Amino acid sequence: MDAADLESDLVEILFTEEQIQTRLDELAREIEADYEGLDILVVGILRGAVMVMADLSRALSRHVEMDWMAISSYGSGTKSSGVVRILKDLDTDISGRHVIIVDEIIDTGLTLSWLTSNLASRTPASVEICTLLRKPDAQQMPVEVKYVGWDIPDEFVVGYGLDYKERYRNLRDIGTLAPHVYS
Ligand code: IMP
Ligand code: MG
Repeated sequence: MDAADLESDLVEILFTEEQIQTRLDELAREIEADYEGLDILVVGILRGAVMVMADLSRALSRHVEMDWMAISSYGSGTKSSGVVRILKDLDTDISGRHVIIVDEIIDTGLTLSWLTSNLASRTPASVEICTLLRKPDAQQMPVEVKYVGWDIPDEFVVGYGLDYKERYRNLRDIGTLAPHVYS
């Protein structure tokens, strides 16, 4: 789906399909340099990270293993509370492995903060986070994010895996959702 198919649902397009691919290529080069000679397991967080996983993993000019987790975080309203439940766990034993968690957006950071310490308790060789987008609230997060596509303002964005009520995930670009859609 293209932005043109959405008529007035978007206030603006923040990142086009081309810009996203270019940025993911840059992140892939950083990852290749940082993990030279090491095996990588990339862990995608369902469902939002599907697009980032597909494009980032293909941008890497080397082997990677891929696994997936599904987690739900409870919260009142639109913000997560940090109370997290694993809906689908990894199929892979990550003990001794170099793990990169791949997510599409970090807002409060509570979900990934919890997940990072959960995975760290499984004695991996390392755990890092790669996220395409990061909102300002994540600065308070006690967890370091090694790879960030872009820092964005605190606005609700959709597309490229990001949803509003399960819609817009299949939009090629990332855009700011118009207030009339959710009011
Ligand atoms: P947090 O970092 O624990 O607050 O939760 C991040 C999660 O909230 C993401 O994985 C998304 O599912 C969701 N989220 C946060 N901001 C947005 C947004 O602007 N658009 C769509 N989903 C969002
Ligand atoms: Mg998500």
